[in-house]
Amino acid sequence: MALDTRRETFYEQLAQGLDGLREQGLFKPERVIASRQGAEVVCDDCRTLINLCANNYLGLSGDEAMVSAAVDATEKYGYGLSSVRFICGTQTVHKELERALSDFLGTEDTILYAAAFDANGGVFEPLFDEQDAIISDALNHASIIDGIRLCKAARYRYQHNDMADLEAQLQAAADKRHKIIVTDGVFSMDGTIAQLDKICDLADRYGALVMIDECHASGFMGKTGRGTHEHHGVMGRIDIITGTLGKALGGAMGGFTSGRKAVIQTLRQKSRPYLFSNSLAPAIAGASLDVLRRLSSSTELRDRLHANTAYFRAAISEIGFTIKPGTHPVVPVMLFDAPLAQKFAQRLYELGVLVTGFFYPVVPMGQARVRVQLSAAHTREQLDKALAAFRQAGQELGLLKN
Ligand SMILES: *Cc1c(COP(=O)(O)O)cnc(C)c1O
Repeated sequence: MALDTRRETFYEQLAQGLDGLREQGLFKPERVIASRQGAEVVCDDCRTLINLCANNYLGLSGDEAMVSAAVDATEKYGYGLSSVRFICGTQTVHKELERALSDFLGTEDTILYAAAFDANGGVFEPLFDEQDAIISDALNHASIIDGIRLCKAARYRYQHNDMADLEAQLQAAADKRHKIIVTDGVFSMDGTIAQLDKICDLADRYGALVMIDECHASGFMGKTGRGTHEHHGVMGRIDIITGTLGKALGGAMGGFTSGRKAVIQTLRQKSRPYLFSNSLAPAIAGASLDVLRRLSSSTELRDRLHANTAYFRAAISEIGFTIKPGTHPVVPVMLFDAPLAQKFAQRLYELGVLVTGFFYPVVPMGQARVRVQLSAAHTREQLDKALAAFRQAGQELGLLKN
């Protein structure tokens, strides 16, 4: 085969793969937004939609005060660092943010990353080796799975949220030197809150460490929004916390790992996504600091989010939809059937509501749904409009009993 033909077959193969995804209905299109992110967005087709699918839990993504804080930090510290942290990429604002995150989370020290994906990707390999065991919930986030793959420790997987199976895996790992249990604090597809009280008790019984990924919790779970550890009354019993600045805590990007000093210092020396990737932009560091100040002085945003969540959960059930029960602002509205979930999301779009249908392989077969995510920024009027659209689309598609 001629060499240039062989090159062409590579591109042909990719095109076939993409066609395959389209045929199976698994191709993920991207909606293009022409406005700021927020409770309402304007799409590039000029339609205004109530947005029910952002991780904008505290409503800060397009918030005016955030924009000012980012501009102020940019004025003071410039646009970027052109460096990794350990060469010449650390500014006072990065150290202040690490201090503020530690205070907020109730830990000793914190290290910043460009994303939570990097925090999870870079946390295991420097801390654990073949003598150790990582015991991971079966539904943990992709970045945790990838991080564990980069590490030589023995891997144990327990059935999602199943404490009996977690105990069985702890027993199976009994002869390992160090053991760490790893779980999402909140699982984003169902809004399931990890049973951290029970997990910490099991960890104590078997001498294991505990790590939680707080991407869907930091800023609003628990009485003062510190996270799932506050929600479950186990602050101080968690060894490692990873999280994002790209969801509730502002919504731009950036991640962190928080815990005891020795852990964080080791990561600064050895964690590859930290050592070999650029510093967080000062605009993000400065604006994130502002968020933590705001959350420490008032629980207003967190309270508004939970009030909106309770309102929406009650009203959508009242209309006659099946939701996964719970208290988290992730509200899975169950359609069960994949084409139906897509059709429903499309009809809601036409009625002015932005939601996404999720189906296999993102969720288990027969568990197709639209996932609603509430925000502190939603007004009652917007939620009522969205609920009316759900009712109309549900009636049109014959989904409602009443
Ligand atoms: C979103 C998410 C991440 C990745 O966060 P980024 O900061 O966007 O990289 C990691 N873990 C969980 C559980 C998430 O939901």
